[in-house]
Amino acid sequence: MIRLEGIKCGVCLTFDVDGPLIWRSKVRVNPKFGNPVCVSLGEFGPEVGVPRILDLLKRYEIQACFFIPGGIIEEYTEMARRIHGEGHEIGFHSYNHVNPADLTYEQQREDFERGLDLFERIFHQRPYGYRSPAADMDEKTWELLDEFDFVYDTTMMGKDSPYIRKMKRNSIVVLPMHWILDDWPHFGWNMYPNFPYQGNIQSQETVYEIWKGEFDGMYELDEGCVYVLCMHPQLMGRTSRLKMLERLIRHMRSLPGVWIARPIELAREVQRALGQ
Ligand SMILES: [Zn+2]
Repeated sequence: MIRLEGIKCGVCLTFDVDGPLIWRSKVRVNPKFGNPVCVSLGEFGPEVGVPRILDLLKRYEIQACFFIPGGIIEEYTEMARRIHGEGHEIGFHSYNHVNPADLTYEQQREDFERGLDLFERIFHQRPYGYRSPAADMDEKTWELLDEFDFVYDTTMMGKDSPYIRKMKRNSIVVLPMHWILDDWPHFGWNMYPNFPYQGNIQSQETVYEIWKGEFDGMYELDEGCVYVLCMHPQLMGRTSRLKMLERLIRHMRSLPGVWIARPIELAREVQRALGQ
């Protein structure tokens, strides 16, 4: 088990800014996902959710990570620049937001190259971390992460503490997530029920209980767990849910030995702990 010195529990607040692309990328599955109401559900994320989230993070002086697909970086460039300018990490979340497991190696590679080129053009740096769109991937995706020298992945769910996936060139750090710490199964809802991962409209109090319970468990266990919350501004930007997130932040902040940081900071600490 990998322990980070002096840390009882590491916390990463991560936001997948899928915006309307999440619906557009599903149009081939069901054309109804392209209708204006569906698309507007996604627009709420960059237009309303992100500014509110940035204000909340600023109030608590927290640096988070935003995984933004290339298509959204192009459509909402000013938003992406603001997030970056405020010191948050920008993670790689594909260009087109299509499930990589549905693509051939060549198609995956093309999507990576297009997304990485854009990333460098806008942010003048390479991304450190990856989260797969659709929380799905295959071994070809891992080969590409290795080839493009990603430091960490935060899609896998094999543990609740950091671990390593040894590839040909790199030992890639995994900062694992889990569905219970993803807002989509709790809050994701659309009128077309064949949208994957759709849950229901859960009370924010229920989700607070689940999220706090998981955090408290990790903290008490004191085994070097990492608590990676995966949130979507189009869901979390609603006022009731943001108040719930603020309550959770205050709770985590009230305890010693909790490190709330950008995932790359945790990944670097993991590498240090392993002497890499
Ligand atoms: Zn996404």
